[in-house]
Amino acid sequence: MHIREFQEMMRSLYLHRDSKRGVKGTYDRLAEELEELGEALKGKDKEAVQKEFADVIAWLASLANMTGIDLEKVTITKYSGKCPRCQQSPCNCRF
Ligand SMILES: [Zn+2]
Repeated sequence: MHIREFQEMMRSLYLHRDSKRGVKGTYDRLAEELEELGEALKGKDKEAVQKEFADVIAWLASLANMTGIDLEKVTITKYSGKCPRCQQSPCNCRF
């Protein structure tokens, strides 16, 4: 499954609910999921970490649907096989 297909699946599953929640509400849920991922990363429960990663990308896809963003297009355009800052692969940025 490609990023675009995943985003389309999320659209089919959740756009009707996401639309009622709105962009801000959906963004807030994504932020909550990121916090939960951060908490899971502090522990040793690999399954919990996996589930939080899934939640983060799911809510990110929902937010992209809400805002008309094609995640596959924008990510591949920006990260096209080289670092967008230093233009090298692997990245050679200083930080
Ligand atoms: Zn770089």
